[in-house]
Amino acid sequence: MSDTHLDSNIPGNPAYHFTILPPERATGAGWGQRPELVPGARALTRCVHAGVQPDPAYGAVMPPLYLSSTFAFKDICTNAGYDYTRSGNPTRACLEEALTILEGGSGATCTSTGMSAVIVALNLLPVGSHLICTVDCYGGTFRALEHAKKTYGLEVTYLDLADLDAVKAALRPTTRMIWVETPSNPLLRLTDIAAIAKLAKAHGALTAVDNTFLSPGLQRPFEHGADLVIHSTTKYLNGHSDVVGGAVLAAPGNTALAQQIQSLNNLLGTSQSPHDCFLVLRGLKTLQVRLKQHQATATEVAAFLDARPEVRVVHYPGLASHPQRALAERQQDGPGAMLSFELNDGSRERVDHILRSLRWFTLAESLGGVESLVAHPASMTHASMTPEARAKAGISDGLIRLSIGIEDPADLIEDLRQAFETLPVPTIATHAGAHI
Ligand SMILES: *Cc1c(COP(=O)(O)O)cnc(C)c1O
Repeated sequence: MSDTHLDSNIPGNPAYHFTILPPERATGAGWGQRPELVPGARALTRCVHAGVQPDPAYGAVMPPLYLSSTFAFKDICTNAGYDYTRSGNPTRACLEEALTILEGGSGATCTSTGMSAVIVALNLLPVGSHLICTVDCYGGTFRALEHAKKTYGLEVTYLDLADLDAVKAALRPTTRMIWVETPSNPLLRLTDIAAIAKLAKAHGALTAVDNTFLSPGLQRPFEHGADLVIHSTTKYLNGHSDVVGGAVLAAPGNTALAQQIQSLNNLLGTSQSPHDCFLVLRGLKTLQVRLKQHQATATEVAAFLDARPEVRVVHYPGLASHPQRALAERQQDGPGAMLSFELNDGSRERVDHILRSLRWFTLAESLGGVESLVAHPASMTHASMTPEARAKAGISDGLIRLSIGIEDPADLIEDLRQAFETLPVPTIATHAGAHI
């Protein structure tokens, strides 16, 4: 076990100052120019090239997968920049560099899961901190915060972050972080990142944005003043439902914060395996292409649902009826591909029918993969919330969430249509005498 990566070259131990050998690739001119050095590369191009350049040893176009847990020292204080894979790994570094480029941050650290990214970010908070969190946050984040309340005495206030006066009123001298998820899960409520970041900054608190639902392909929170971006790379960034992973990123110019999150990831032992990093890096290349189709399909499905008489409301930022449409257009590059809808009659029987009769939508948790999924938040993703907390967050039993994949919209619409058309007759529509 080595902590040299954590402590090396931090002023205070001059007797053991490390020499990092210049990486071969720095001298490997001719293999290709690093993508961040190409001025003005656009999103589609950045996704393909970020963090990757031909390997100097053999010119391999994809980065080598370095599975080694440990790295040789040349002598007592000289290595090639890596000593132990928990602390740092060349394959992981490629993914971290790619994510840093895509989000526009100063540094990233990749974690074993999205939840461990949440844990790394929460570990920035000193004892006695107060945190303000969006009321309809990811269920796992809610569970982690409730655990931190009981175990570490973290104080947490859950709020609708659209209500800026309420956020102002909730600030305490000990408020050190505001936790934003936008769009939120599962109601697709938006938070004005710039407005929250301004409030937080004036108060000396950090703004952390969980950007999982859109990815940097559609929203870059640092452009709006966020200090930290959190990802479950399990979702859109990897996009193929075959990896769990996460990432924490620090804002541009804040290299101290970047170093802190990297140190915490090493200290907590939450870093991501090189193999998983390799897969996420592979998925990243098609992020922008996937998002285009995800959104095209989602837009048609949302319009179809919006016109169905069985549906009370569709939550999707791409619909003209979304109450925060203007903010979506200002803050996002597109509406994304997550949506939820509520049935007029959300009885157990009818919800069950929809969930059971869909053929292209798999009943499963998670999101952001190329295949469409359907979920029932009250019994699945948000089951760890108390019924009171769910009610407060507006998550009813009749709410159904869809993660729209990249299938042909016509197939998904046909599937939804057959599920609606075979719905059992609502109990309220039967003659009154039978329903006492
Ligand atoms: C899935 C998810 C997480 C947790 O990520 P895992 O990879 O499942 O640990 C955190 N935040 C949001 C918004 C998510 O959707």
